[in-house]
Amino acid sequence: MNAPINSTINQPLTDTNEQNKEPMNMSVFSHPEFDNHEQLTFFSDEKSGLKAIIAVHNTNLGPALGGCRMWHYASDEEALRDVLRLSRGMTYKSALANLKLGGGKSVIIGDPRQHKSEALLEMMGRCLERTGGQYIAAEDSGTSVPDLQVMSRFTNNVAGITERTGIDGLPCNGDPSPATAYGCFVGLKAAVKHQFGRDDLSGLKVAIQGVGNVGYRLAKHLRQAGAELFVTDIHEEQVRLAVTELGATAVAQEEILGLDVDVLSPCALGAVLNDFSIPQIKAKVIAGAANNQLALAKHDQLLQQRGILYAPDYVINAGGIIDIYYERVGHEHTKVRAHIDTIADTLQEIFRRADDSGRPTGEIANTLAEERFMTR
Ligand code: NAD
Repeated sequence: MNAPINSTINQPLTDTNEQNKEPMNMSVFSHPEFDNHEQLTFFSDEKSGLKAIIAVHNTNLGPALGGCRMWHYASDEEALRDVLRLSRGMTYKSALANLKLGGGKSVIIGDPRQHKSEALLEMMGRCLERTGGQYIAAEDSGTSVPDLQVMSRFTNNVAGITERTGIDGLPCNGDPSPATAYGCFVGLKAAVKHQFGRDDLSGLKVAIQGVGNVGYRLAKHLRQAGAELFVTDIHEEQVRLAVTELGATAVAQEEILGLDVDVLSPCALGAVLNDFSIPQIKAKVIAGAANNQLALAKHDQLLQQRGILYAPDYVINAGGIIDIYYERVGHEHTKVRAHIDTIADTLQEIFRRADDSGRPTGEIANTLAEERFMTR
């Protein structure tokens, strides 16, 4: 249980058959990503073509909630590894978001563009029903709100599917991005306060990598608070929007991480904080939405050694799951917003403990989460 959540394990898992490239054995209890998961269920249905795995990591704090991912996995082993790793991550995320939820995840093996059908989604709904409420599925890569709505014909164990008032007071179709962006804004402010001792963001230079659903909305919050924005994206139209609507400065993709700014906000990809990028980073705060920003666990410490304050990704990007949680317990957008504001308190506690102990922030976050979900 001590392995940090972002650790990457690359060693071979099983012997491989040279001819079909498929693992000959797929271990579960001795799998490197197995971490005392409570329940792992494999589903298959020949008629609809469904092949799915549901993993429940821990339910000490409540039912396990996490995305249902559909992906063209190269092997069953890859799908297993993903579901074990991601479900564990959800336990940590919900614990630090102060939610009465455990951690779970499901994966459907198949290319969403080719293999997704109404029958397959309906069957997935039936499978979710069979977990007896121990696991609740939400939208993830390869699945959409309408897909989850199809699943919901057969189960209540889905979340993030109802029309509601978003945290900004506007109608919301279930997309968690506005809540995630707001949480990142709140968390970024807490990190700036801790590192620079300032509440006012005016003139603060922030570089955002990826101005998509979350990054663009975060940029908007920052702009309203007076920050100076530098943005990049692989999609030119996204950059153009940020430049014309928010007065941002466009930056080349390869320059964004090393830009001379106060805050770096990764909102695109994982593993951007690595051996190559860390020595180039000039920002003194890293606060962004992207999942799994640390390429390896050791990069947490490298950032600390360079005096860079890292807001752990799964803490700062929890706004979306907080929003989804409230859909199940009574959604009131003012309550949701107030709950998302607590991301700042959690980060402050992490930063304080990191200062007191000399340990890096990612490690502290993992310890704090374990303190919360391991004591019933
Ligand atoms: P998105 O796809 O809407 O936006 C990502 C943006 O990054 C896109 O515009 C894409 O073109 C851009 N991008 C991709 N590769 C890039 C690169 N190499 N350089 C620059 N830009 C690049 O996704 P999103 O929903 O905004 O999520 C952003 C990140 O936040 C993802 O890592 C996601 O897992 C994480 N996250 C999102 C949510 C949410 O509520 N949407 C919640 C938690 C975490």
